[in-house]
Amino acid sequence: MPHNQEQARERAEQLRKEIERHNYHYYVLDNPVVSDAQYDKMMRELEELEQNYPALVTPYSPTRRVGGKTREGFTSVRHFTPMLSLSNAFDEKELRDFDRRVRQALPGEEVSYVVEPKIDGLAVSLYYENGLLVRGATRGDGEAGEDITKNLRTIRSVPLRLNRPVPGLEVRGEAYMSKEAFSRLNGAREEAGEPLFANPRNAAAGTLRQLDPKVTASRQLGLFVYGIGYSAGIEVVGHAEVLQLLKELGFKVNPRFRLFDDMAELIPYCREWQLRRFALSYAVDGLVIKVNSLSQQRRLGATIKSPRWAIAFKFPPEQAVTGVKDISVRVGRTGVLTPTAELEPVRLAGTTVSRATLHNEDLIREKDIRIGDKVLVQKAGDIIPEVISVLPEERTGTEAVWSMPSECPSCGSLVVRAEGEAAARCTGLACPAKLHESLIHFASRNAMDITGLGPAVTAQLLAAGLVRDPADLYHLRYEDLAALERLGAKSARKLLGAIEESKKNSLARLIFALGIRHVGERSAGILAGHYGSLEALVNAGEDELVNLPEIGPKIASSIAAFFADQRNRRVIEKLAGAGVDPREKEARKESDLLTGKTFVITGTLAGFSRREAKELVERLGGKVSSGVSRATDYVVVGQNPGSKYDKAVSLGINILDEKEFKELTGV
Ligand code: NAD
Repeated sequence: MPHNQEQARERAEQLRKEIERHNYHYYVLDNPVVSDAQYDKMMRELEELEQNYPALVTPYSPTRRVGGKTREGFTSVRHFTPMLSLSNAFDEKELRDFDRRVRQALPGEEVSYVVEPKIDGLAVSLYYENGLLVRGATRGDGEAGEDITKNLRTIRSVPLRLNRPVPGLEVRGEAYMSKEAFSRLNGAREEAGEPLFANPRNAAAGTLRQLDPKVTASRQLGLFVYGIGYSAGIEVVGHAEVLQLLKELGFKVNPRFRLFDDMAELIPYCREWQLRRFALSYAVDGLVIKVNSLSQQRRLGATIKSPRWAIAFKFPPEQAVTGVKDISVRVGRTGVLTPTAELEPVRLAGTTVSRATLHNEDLIREKDIRIGDKVLVQKAGDIIPEVISVLPEERTGTEAVWSMPSECPSCGSLVVRAEGEAAARCTGLACPAKLHESLIHFASRNAMDITGLGPAVTAQLLAAGLVRDPADLYHLRYEDLAALERLGAKSARKLLGAIEESKKNSLARLIFALGIRHVGERSAGILAGHYGSLEALVNAGEDELVNLPEIGPKIASSIAAFFADQRNRRVIEKLAGAGVDPREKEARKESDLLTGKTFVITGTLAGFSRREAKELVERLGGKVSSGVSRATDYVVVGQNPGSKYDKAVSLGINILDEKEFKELTGV
């Protein structure tokens, strides 16, 4: 604690800056950089400083304000009454202090409290007019939040219409992500090498505060309603009644609330919850204790930041010390290698924990985690075990430094970590860990375009052991496919036809289909144009590749690593053996003839399939898009053109018949 006013002023200013920075990461970016416990500690220190040196208090201090701001892309919504935060109690003494303050302000009155789980999500407001949902918003800075109506409408527990058409009602609640959905989402993000959400609150906030309602719907949020912000035509006297009424109106209300007349009973109940919470399917980071009587609530009022009639009792994060037996590596669907600490089993937050993800090599270096170390573990958001730090004083000298394997533990192919990326990836085309994804990409529309080979059929082919690499697709027989469950004779025949047809694809498509990291359709086209055959590309050196137009060092090194792998070369030979070995018709020169020009093709052309016409335009540097707009340069019109032709005429766009198209492209 500083000794004089000047030191206190400096420290307070330092803390404010730091807290503002964390507020920005937490509330605006949904991506905190410190733990809640660390944040709460700083906030506590600032509150104490401001209490001891009242002259330091400014209205701009984070202790006086709710932390959010409106994110770009959202309309701002002003709340009827401010949406406040809650003050915190971190231990039983602070709960008793709260009770004392309440009773002092209400001399001689009986006080009862409702205790509810504090859901670890984000506060939202829902506004209903005559029983219909008209608007939903985030808390924002407490005065105004973001209009997230479209996203909130995708949450199944949000009623779009109430059971009774009350004239005007604004309710408040907590949108949350279940523990299971949170683990699933983070698991998928880790496999894809994407940044993880720190806890379910940030995951729920990130889901509601993005602009695509389809993404919100796919992540399956829940919403518990816990209070009324504004109402017209509703008469109730206590908070417990409010909850009952909200339930009757059709809202999902958390059933685990309880009324207490006495602190002596309430405190053991709070203690009990420190373990009980682990059994729930959603994360609970504390309990909220609210004065039940609404009249008393009104008289107690609020500070600028939080009501005086409620307090959040925060649970401490559970931590434990255990040993690292080993560091193993898992290969994800997309080929990312994730190191995992194999731990001495330890009880933590309601379960036995025996592994914790270490995310990537950098994290292991940063924390200097070694095999044999004693480490401090906790669960992120009480769900996902993580290693917080090493206990270096426990080291005996026998601990082993770990490094990422250079060969994939799943298939033995080379492991590559691109410059500037945290993730290490397997380059194996036939790696069993990622084969499902590799095949789906191989068969996708812009790659080999094998209609009928979707995720479900691919999974069946793998389960039946019929396909171990993409080349095996070309050896499938009718009997193999017809024997698969749910795949009828007609679909089996169609699929075989599509596989056969795919042999005719261009070299560019095949290169793209191999799924070489950083090689998109455009680079594949450039490589095909330059090398003319896969064989020539396989033997190209990195120095040579990097000199090609638009092929930077990142792409060149990724291609070189891919073809350096013997296993990948074998799959390519196998593909060629099965008749998948397209050649560019003539060793084409790169051309910029159509660079910057956009084409739309409509109707049937006599001399080209759609695909061939598209590839021709692309080879010459142009683009083909599906819809006509003012940005279209040419519309190529074949037999029986569609409405695109009419649109082109009405917009006055250049129209080419097939002959003119051939002249323009020089074929
Ligand atoms: P809070 O989360 O501590 O408490 C207020 C919120 O509790 C309400 O807005 C509401 O959303 C929620 N709540 C859940 N269940 C409820 C119920 N049954 N009844 C009423 N409210 C309920 O306060 P806050 O202002 O949202 O956030 C402050 C907390 O956020 C800090 O204590 C800190 O832990 C965390 N934080 C962390 C960082 C970081 O960088 N790690 C930064 C900022 C904030």
